[in-house]
Amino acid sequence: MINENYLNLSESYLFTEIARKVNAFKKRYPKADIVSLGIGDVTQPLCPAVVEALHKAADEMAVAATFRGYGPERGYDFLREAIVENDFYRHGIDIDADEVFVSDGAKSDTGNFQELLATDCVVAVTDPVYPVYVDSNLMAGRKIVKLPCTAGNGFVPELPAGHVDVIYLCYPNNPTGTTLTRDQLKTWVDYALETGALILYDAAYEAFIRSTDVPHSIYEIPGAKACAVEFHSFSKTAGFTGIRCGYTVVPKELPAQLNSLWNRRQSTKFNGTSYLSQRAAEAVYSPEGREQIAATIDYYMWNADTMREALTDMGFKVYGGQDAPYLWVGTPNGMSSWDFFEWMLHSAHVVCTPGMGFGDQGEGFVRLTAFGTHENSEKALRRIAMKTP
Ligand code: PLP
Repeated sequence: MINENYLNLSESYLFTEIARKVNAFKKRYPKADIVSLGIGDVTQPLCPAVVEALHKAADEMAVAATFRGYGPERGYDFLREAIVENDFYRHGIDIDADEVFVSDGAKSDTGNFQELLATDCVVAVTDPVYPVYVDSNLMAGRKIVKLPCTAGNGFVPELPAGHVDVIYLCYPNNPTGTTLTRDQLKTWVDYALETGALILYDAAYEAFIRSTDVPHSIYEIPGAKACAVEFHSFSKTAGFTGIRCGYTVVPKELPAQLNSLWNRRQSTKFNGTSYLSQRAAEAVYSPEGREQIAATIDYYMWNADTMREALTDMGFKVYGGQDAPYLWVGTPNGMSSWDFFEWMLHSAHVVCTPGMGFGDQGEGFVRLTAFGTHENSEKALRRIAMKTP
Protein backbone atom coordinates (compact mmCIF):
# COMPACT_ATOMS: atom_id res chain seq x y z
CA MET A 1 0.00 0.00 0.00
CA ILE A 2 1.20 3.51 -0.75
CA ASN A 3 0.53 6.81 0.94
CA GLU A 4 -2.60 7.70 -1.01
CA ASN A 5 -2.11 11.37 -0.28
CA TYR A 6 0.47 11.33 -3.05
CA LEU A 7 -2.39 10.71 -5.47
CA ASN A 8 -3.76 14.14 -4.56
CA LEU A 9 -0.67 15.85 -5.93
CA SER A 10 -0.80 17.41 -9.36
CA GLU A 11 0.77 15.21 -11.97
CA SER A 12 4.27 16.59 -12.00
CA TYR A 13 6.27 19.23 -10.27
CA LEU A 14 5.92 22.50 -12.19
CA PHE A 15 9.53 22.74 -13.33
CA THR A 16 9.56 19.12 -14.48
CA GLU A 17 6.61 19.91 -16.74
CA ILE A 18 8.30 23.04 -18.11
CA ALA A 19 11.53 21.09 -18.75
CA ARG A 20 9.50 18.43 -20.59
CA LYS A 21 7.92 21.03 -22.88
CA VAL A 22 11.23 22.84 -23.48
CA ASN A 23 13.01 19.56 -24.27
CA ALA A 24 10.30 18.57 -26.74
CA PHE A 25 10.71 21.97 -28.44
CA LYS A 26 14.51 21.59 -28.54
CA LYS A 27 14.16 18.15 -30.09
CA ARG A 28 11.97 19.58 -32.83
CA TYR A 29 14.07 22.72 -33.36
CA PRO A 30 17.59 21.75 -32.35
CA LYS A 31 19.07 24.98 -33.70
CA ALA A 32 16.77 27.31 -31.74
CA ASP A 33 18.68 29.60 -29.37
CA ILE A 34 16.53 29.42 -26.25
CA VAL A 35 16.84 32.00 -23.48
CA SER A 36 15.59 30.78 -20.13
CA LEU A 37 13.95 33.24 -17.79
CA GLY A 38 11.99 30.35 -16.32
CA ILE A 39 13.35 28.29 -13.43
CA GLY A 40 14.82 30.48 -10.72
CA ASP A 41 18.39 29.24 -10.98
CA VAL A 42 21.32 31.63 -10.83
CA THR A 43 23.89 32.14 -13.59
CA GLN A 44 26.74 34.06 -11.97
CA PRO A 45 29.65 32.08 -10.48
CA LEU A 46 30.52 31.85 -6.81
CA CYS A 47 32.34 34.93 -5.53
CA PRO A 48 36.15 34.71 -5.03
CA ALA A 49 35.93 34.74 -1.21
CA VAL A 50 33.68 31.65 -1.32
CA VAL A 51 35.88 29.85 -3.85
CA GLU A 52 38.94 30.51 -1.70
CA ALA A 53 37.14 29.10 1.37
CA LEU A 54 36.18 25.99 -0.60
CA HIS A 55 39.78 25.39 -1.69
CA LYS A 56 41.01 25.88 1.84
CA ALA A 57 38.39 23.49 3.24
CA ALA A 58 39.28 20.89 0.59
CA ASP A 59 42.95 21.14 1.61
CA GLU A 60 41.99 20.64 5.25
CA MET A 61 40.10 17.49 4.29
CA ALA A 62 43.27 16.12 2.66
CA VAL A 63 45.23 16.06 5.92
CA ALA A 64 44.50 13.73 8.87
CA ALA A 65 45.06 16.48 11.45
CA THR A 66 42.42 18.77 9.93
CA PHE A 67 40.12 16.20 8.29
CA ARG A 68 36.44 16.46 9.36
CA GLY A 69 33.88 13.69 9.35
CA TYR A 70 30.31 14.03 10.60
CA GLY A 71 29.70 17.55 11.87
CA PRO A 72 27.61 18.84 14.78
CA GLU A 73 23.91 18.23 14.15
CA ARG A 74 22.81 21.90 14.12
CA GLY A 75 25.80 22.93 12.00
CA TYR A 76 29.30 24.12 12.89
CA ASP A 77 29.56 26.86 15.52
CA PHE A 78 31.68 29.01 13.18
CA LEU A 79 28.77 29.26 10.74
CA ARG A 80 25.94 29.56 13.26
CA GLU A 81 27.83 32.33 15.03
CA ALA A 82 28.50 34.17 11.75
CA ILE A 83 24.78 33.88 10.90
CA VAL A 84 23.61 35.17 14.26
CA GLU A 85 26.11 38.04 14.22
CA ASN A 86 25.55 39.20 10.63
CA ASP A 87 21.94 38.39 9.84
CA PHE A 88 20.48 39.22 13.25
CA TYR A 89 22.61 41.05 15.91
CA ARG A 90 23.81 43.54 13.31
CA HIS A 91 20.15 44.45 12.69
CA GLY A 92 19.28 44.61 16.38
CA ILE A 93 17.64 41.17 16.52
CA ASP A 94 18.53 38.84 19.35
CA ILE A 95 18.74 35.26 18.08
CA ASP A 96 20.72 32.61 19.93
CA ALA A 97 23.09 30.34 17.95
CA ASP A 98 21.17 27.36 19.39
CA GLU A 99 18.08 28.59 17.58
CA VAL A 100 19.84 28.29 14.21
CA PHE A 101 19.83 24.98 12.33
CA VAL A 102 22.12 24.78 9.31
CA SER A 103 20.73 22.72 6.45
CA ASP A 104 21.28 21.83 2.82
CA GLY A 105 18.86 24.56 1.74
CA ALA A 106 15.44 26.03 2.27
CA LYS A 107 13.59 23.56 0.05
CA SER A 108 14.28 20.68 2.43
CA ASP A 109 13.44 22.70 5.52
CA THR A 110 10.29 24.35 4.18
CA GLY A 111 9.18 20.93 2.95
CA ASN A 112 10.11 19.01 6.11
CA PHE A 113 9.09 21.34 8.92
CA GLN A 114 5.42 20.32 8.61
CA GLU A 115 6.39 16.87 9.96
CA LEU A 116 6.38 18.37 13.46
CA LEU A 117 2.72 19.36 13.14
CA ALA A 118 -0.44 17.33 13.60
CA THR A 119 -2.09 16.06 10.44
CA ASP A 120 -5.33 17.80 11.32
CA CYS A 121 -3.71 21.25 11.36
CA VAL A 122 -5.33 23.59 8.85
CA VAL A 123 -2.65 25.17 6.69
CA ALA A 124 -2.96 28.54 4.96
CA VAL A 125 -0.86 29.40 1.94
CA THR A 126 -0.94 32.37 -0.38
CA ASP A 127 -2.20 31.83 -3.91
CA PRO A 128 0.03 32.00 -5.99
CA VAL A 129 2.60 30.14 -3.90
CA TYR A 130 5.96 28.33 -3.99
CA PRO A 131 4.63 24.80 -4.65
CA VAL A 132 6.73 23.06 -1.98
CA TYR A 133 4.54 24.33 0.90
CA VAL A 134 1.41 22.94 -0.73
CA ASP A 135 2.78 19.63 -1.94
CA SER A 136 4.57 18.73 1.31
CA ASN A 137 1.33 19.31 3.25
CA LEU A 138 -0.77 17.41 0.71
CA MET A 139 1.64 14.48 1.06
CA ALA A 140 0.88 14.53 4.79
CA GLY A 141 -2.88 14.72 4.14
CA ARG A 142 -3.48 18.21 5.55
CA LYS A 143 -6.26 20.58 4.63
CA ILE A 144 -5.05 23.65 2.78
CA VAL A 145 -6.70 27.07 2.73
CA LYS A 146 -5.72 29.52 -0.02
CA LEU A 147 -5.21 33.24 0.58
CA PRO A 148 -5.59 34.99 -2.79
CA CYS A 149 -2.91 37.51 -3.74
CA THR A 150 -4.16 39.48 -6.71
CA ALA A 151 -3.49 42.76 -8.44
CA GLY A 152 -6.70 43.90 -6.72
CA ASN A 153 -5.27 43.51 -3.19
CA GLY A 154 -1.77 44.56 -4.22
CA PHE A 155 -0.61 40.94 -3.69
CA VAL A 156 -1.05 41.39 0.06
CA PRO A 157 -3.06 38.45 1.46
CA GLU A 158 -6.04 39.15 3.66
CA LEU A 159 -6.26 37.48 7.07
CA PRO A 160 -8.01 34.08 6.88
CA ALA A 161 -11.80 34.15 7.22
CA GLY A 162 -11.88 30.92 9.27
CA HIS A 163 -9.56 29.21 11.74
CA VAL A 164 -6.09 28.20 10.51
CA ASP A 165 -3.23 26.66 12.50
CA VAL A 166 -0.27 27.27 10.22
CA ILE A 167 0.48 30.09 7.76
CA TYR A 168 3.24 30.02 5.17
CA LEU A 169 4.44 33.46 4.16
CA CYS A 170 7.26 34.12 1.71
CA TYR A 171 8.58 37.68 1.37
CA PRO A 172 10.06 38.92 -0.88
CA ASN A 173 7.64 36.64 -2.67
CA ASN A 174 8.25 33.87 -5.11
CA PRO A 175 6.57 34.04 -7.61
CA THR A 176 5.10 37.57 -7.56
CA GLY A 177 8.30 39.41 -6.56
CA THR A 178 6.20 41.59 -4.24
CA THR A 179 6.89 42.38 -0.58
CA LEU A 180 5.16 43.19 2.71
CA THR A 181 6.02 46.37 4.59
CA ARG A 182 6.84 46.18 8.28
CA ASP A 183 3.28 47.29 9.13
CA GLN A 184 1.73 44.70 6.82
CA LEU A 185 3.86 41.92 8.33
CA LYS A 186 2.99 43.14 11.84
CA THR A 187 -0.69 42.48 11.05
CA TRP A 188 0.24 38.81 10.50
CA VAL A 189 2.40 38.51 13.59
CA ASP A 190 -0.34 40.08 15.73
CA TYR A 191 -2.90 37.72 14.19
CA ALA A 192 -0.71 34.68 14.89
CA LEU A 193 -0.11 35.75 18.49
CA GLU A 194 -3.80 36.32 19.00
CA THR A 195 -5.01 33.06 17.45
CA GLY A 196 -2.10 30.75 18.35
CA ALA A 197 -1.25 30.10 14.70
CA LEU A 198 2.31 29.33 13.66
CA ILE A 199 3.89 31.37 10.85
CA LEU A 200 6.43 29.59 8.65
CA TYR A 201 8.28 32.53 7.12
CA ASP A 202 10.42 31.95 4.04
CA ALA A 203 13.04 34.70 3.73
CA ALA A 204 14.97 33.05 0.87
CA TYR A 205 15.04 36.33 -1.08
CA GLU A 206 15.74 38.79 1.75
CA ALA A 207 19.12 39.77 0.26
CA PHE A 208 17.33 41.41 -2.68
CA ILE A 209 15.43 43.94 -0.56
CA ARG A 210 16.24 47.56 -1.37
CA SER A 211 13.26 49.41 0.16
CA THR A 212 13.83 50.55 3.73
CA ASP A 213 10.29 49.83 4.94
CA VAL A 214 10.49 46.15 3.95
CA PRO A 215 11.70 43.86 6.78
CA HIS A 216 14.60 41.46 6.14
CA SER A 217 13.45 39.13 8.90
CA ILE A 218 10.10 38.48 10.56
CA TYR A 219 11.94 38.85 13.89
CA GLU A 220 12.12 42.59 13.24
CA ILE A 221 8.46 42.52 14.30
CA PRO A 222 7.92 42.46 18.08
CA GLY A 223 6.52 39.15 19.30
CA ALA A 224 7.53 37.15 16.21
CA LYS A 225 9.88 34.90 18.17
CA ALA A 226 6.83 33.47 19.94
CA CYS A 227 4.96 32.60 16.72
CA ALA A 228 7.31 32.26 13.75
CA VAL A 229 9.94 29.98 12.26
CA GLU A 230 12.15 31.56 9.59
CA PHE A 231 13.87 29.87 6.64
CA HIS A 232 16.96 31.25 4.92
CA SER A 233 18.95 30.11 1.92
CA PHE A 234 22.38 30.90 0.50
CA SER A 235 21.12 29.76 -2.92
CA LYS A 236 20.10 33.10 -4.37
CA THR A 237 22.02 35.28 -1.91
CA ALA A 238 25.38 33.80 -2.88
CA GLY A 239 24.85 31.43 -5.83
CA PHE A 240 24.71 28.26 -3.69
CA THR A 241 22.07 26.41 -5.74
CA GLY A 242 24.71 23.78 -6.54
CA ILE A 243 26.77 24.03 -3.33
CA ARG A 244 23.68 23.67 -1.06
CA CYS A 245 23.42 25.48 2.24
CA GLY A 246 20.68 27.25 4.13
CA TYR A 247 19.45 27.58 7.67
CA THR A 248 16.28 27.69 9.73
CA VAL A 249 15.63 29.70 12.86
CA VAL A 250 13.44 27.93 15.41
CA PRO A 251 13.21 30.23 18.44
CA LYS A 252 13.11 28.67 21.90
CA GLU A 253 10.20 30.96 22.77
CA LEU A 254 7.95 29.04 20.38
CA PRO A 255 5.37 26.88 22.13
CA ALA A 256 5.35 23.08 22.14
CA GLN A 257 9.17 22.93 22.35
CA LEU A 258 9.40 23.23 18.59
CA ASN A 259 13.13 23.99 18.89
CA SER A 260 13.79 20.63 20.61
CA LEU A 261 11.43 18.77 18.29
CA TRP A 262 13.17 20.16 15.19
CA ASN A 263 16.52 19.23 16.69
CA ARG A 264 15.21 15.71 17.31
CA ARG A 265 13.82 15.46 13.78
CA GLN A 266 16.99 16.73 12.15
CA SER A 267 19.32 14.56 14.20
CA THR A 268 17.25 11.52 13.24
CA LYS A 269 16.71 12.16 9.53
CA PHE A 270 19.43 14.59 8.41
CA ASN A 271 23.16 14.04 8.70
CA GLY A 272 24.36 17.57 8.18
CA THR A 273 25.52 19.92 5.47
CA SER A 274 29.01 19.25 4.17
CA TYR A 275 31.94 20.93 5.91
CA LEU A 276 32.89 22.46 2.56
CA SER A 277 29.45 24.05 2.11
CA GLN A 278 29.52 25.42 5.65
CA ARG A 279 32.99 26.95 5.22
CA ALA A 280 31.79 28.40 1.91
CA ALA A 281 28.73 29.89 3.64
CA GLU A 282 30.91 31.33 6.42
CA ALA A 283 32.94 33.16 3.74
CA VAL A 284 29.75 34.90 2.54
CA TYR A 285 29.92 36.91 5.79
CA SER A 286 33.59 37.95 5.50
CA PRO A 287 34.13 41.62 4.56
CA GLU A 288 35.25 40.60 1.03
CA GLY A 289 32.45 38.06 0.71
CA ARG A 290 29.81 40.61 1.69
CA GLU A 291 31.10 43.09 -0.85
CA GLN A 292 31.35 40.50 -3.61
CA ILE A 293 27.88 39.02 -3.14
CA ALA A 294 26.41 42.53 -2.98
CA ALA A 295 27.90 43.19 -6.43
CA THR A 296 26.26 40.04 -7.85
CA ILE A 297 22.91 40.93 -6.29
CA ASP A 298 23.21 44.41 -7.85
CA TYR A 299 23.87 42.75 -11.19
CA TYR A 300 20.68 40.67 -10.94
CA MET A 301 18.70 43.70 -9.81
CA TRP A 302 20.06 45.60 -12.82
CA ASN A 303 18.45 42.85 -14.92
CA ALA A 304 15.23 43.23 -12.94
CA ASP A 305 15.18 47.01 -13.47
CA THR A 306 15.93 46.66 -17.18
CA MET A 307 13.22 44.03 -17.63
CA ARG A 308 10.63 45.93 -15.61
CA GLU A 309 11.16 49.14 -17.56
CA ALA A 310 11.26 47.50 -21.00
CA LEU A 311 8.20 45.31 -20.42
CA THR A 312 6.24 48.23 -18.97
CA ASP A 313 7.15 50.29 -22.06
CA MET A 314 5.87 47.45 -24.24
CA GLY A 315 2.51 47.78 -22.49
CA PHE A 316 2.72 44.78 -20.15
CA LYS A 317 1.41 45.03 -16.59
CA VAL A 318 4.48 44.26 -14.50
CA TYR A 319 4.57 43.67 -10.74
CA GLY A 320 7.45 42.88 -8.38
CA GLY A 321 11.10 43.08 -9.36
CA GLN A 322 11.82 46.03 -7.06
CA ASP A 323 12.92 44.13 -3.96
CA ALA A 324 13.04 40.68 -5.54
CA PRO A 325 14.59 38.94 -8.52
CA TYR A 326 11.18 38.00 -9.94
CA LEU A 327 8.75 39.87 -12.18
CA TRP A 328 5.10 38.92 -12.30
CA VAL A 329 3.86 39.87 -15.71
CA GLY A 330 0.22 40.00 -16.83
CA THR A 331 -0.38 38.08 -20.06
CA PRO A 332 -1.57 40.17 -23.03
CA ASN A 333 -5.08 40.06 -24.49
CA GLY A 334 -6.48 37.77 -21.82
CA MET A 335 -4.22 34.88 -22.88
CA SER A 336 -3.98 31.99 -20.42
CA SER A 337 -0.66 31.64 -18.65
CA TRP A 338 0.17 28.30 -20.34
CA ASP A 339 -0.80 29.74 -23.77
CA PHE A 340 1.48 32.70 -23.20
CA PHE A 341 4.24 30.30 -22.06
CA GLU A 342 3.81 28.39 -25.38
CA TRP A 343 3.74 31.65 -27.33
CA MET A 344 6.96 32.88 -25.66
CA LEU A 345 8.67 29.56 -26.33
CA HIS A 346 7.59 29.20 -29.95
CA SER A 347 7.69 32.85 -31.08
CA ALA A 348 10.44 34.41 -28.98
CA HIS A 349 12.34 31.26 -27.90
CA VAL A 350 12.13 32.52 -24.34
CA VAL A 351 11.23 30.28 -21.41
CA CYS A 352 9.05 31.79 -18.71
CA THR A 353 7.08 30.15 -15.92
CA PRO A 354 3.29 30.04 -16.31
CA GLY A 355 1.59 31.64 -13.34
CA MET A 356 -0.95 28.80 -13.14
CA GLY A 357 1.86 26.54 -11.97
CA PHE A 358 1.85 28.50 -8.70
CA GLY A 359 -1.92 28.35 -8.10
CA ASP A 360 -5.24 29.38 -9.61
CA GLN A 361 -4.59 33.07 -8.93
CA GLY A 362 -1.55 32.77 -11.17
CA GLU A 363 -3.84 32.49 -14.19
CA GLY A 364 -3.24 35.45 -16.48
CA PHE A 365 0.38 35.87 -15.34
CA VAL A 366 3.84 34.53 -16.05
CA ARG A 367 6.91 34.78 -13.86
CA LEU A 368 10.18 36.02 -15.31
CA THR A 369 13.43 35.78 -13.39
CA ALA A 370 16.26 38.30 -13.26
CA PHE A 371 18.82 35.53 -12.68
CA GLY A 372 19.95 35.36 -16.31
CA THR A 373 22.97 37.12 -17.73
CA HIS A 374 22.34 40.74 -18.63
CA GLU A 375 23.02 39.92 -22.25
CA ASN A 376 20.39 37.18 -22.29
CA SER A 377 17.87 39.31 -20.43
CA GLU A 378 18.24 42.02 -23.07
CA LYS A 379 18.10 39.48 -25.87
CA ALA A 380 14.86 38.08 -24.48
CA LEU A 381 13.38 41.57 -24.21
CA ARG A 382 14.28 42.41 -27.82
CA ARG A 383 12.61 39.23 -29.02
CA ILE A 384 9.49 39.77 -26.94
CA ALA A 385 9.25 43.37 -28.21
CA MET A 386 9.41 42.22 -31.81
CA LYS A 387 6.83 39.48 -31.44
CA THR A 388 4.39 40.68 -28.81
CA PRO A 389 0.97 39.23 -29.68
N1 PLP B 1 12.02 29.03 -0.89
C1 PLP B 1 11.68 29.70 -1.98
C2 PLP B 1 10.58 30.68 -1.90
C3 PLP B 1 12.32 29.46 -3.19
O1 PLP B 1 11.94 30.14 -4.28
C4 PLP B 1 13.35 28.51 -3.25
C5 PLP B 1 14.06 28.21 -4.49
O2 PLP B 1 13.71 28.54 -5.57
C6 PLP B 1 13.66 27.83 -2.09
C7 PLP B 1 12.99 28.11 -0.93
C8 PLP B 1 14.68 26.75 -2.11
O3 PLP B 1 15.94 27.18 -1.88
P1 PLP B 1 17.15 26.20 -1.65
O4 PLP B 1 17.95 26.22 -2.91
O5 PLP B 1 17.87 26.79 -0.47
O6 PLP B 1 16.65 24.84 -1.34
